[in-house]
Amino acid sequence: MSDNMRIRLDRTVCDGFGVCAKHAPKHFSLDDWGYASLIGDGTVDEADRGDVLRALFDCPVHAIIEITGDEFNGATRSEPTTDETPVFEAHWGFAQ
Ligand code: SF4
Repeated sequence: MSDNMRIRLDRTVCDGFGVCAKHAPKHFSLDDWGYASLIGDGTVDEADRGDVLRALFDCPVHAIIEITGDEFNGATRSEPTTDETPVFEAHWGFAQ
């Protein structure tokens, strides 16, 4: 299994600021109204990691989320059953 960073984009919160496409145009495209779509399946090559992280940190509405585990393969988010950290929680401070 690859150790590449993986991301998803929550288009329900995207507010069309366009910052992501500016920082990482290989991974984000904008529609005619400026709302973002993910290009590809969310896998980020190591060479693009810095650009994508900058997009992630600069997105004003935190619509870009680093994902881990089975969520990337289509699994749905599950509620934690114990006091352990949720498996699919973003790694970054603003989501914790
Ligand atoms: S930076 Fe965030 S809000 Fe702006 S277009 Fe990209 S995902 Fe949407």
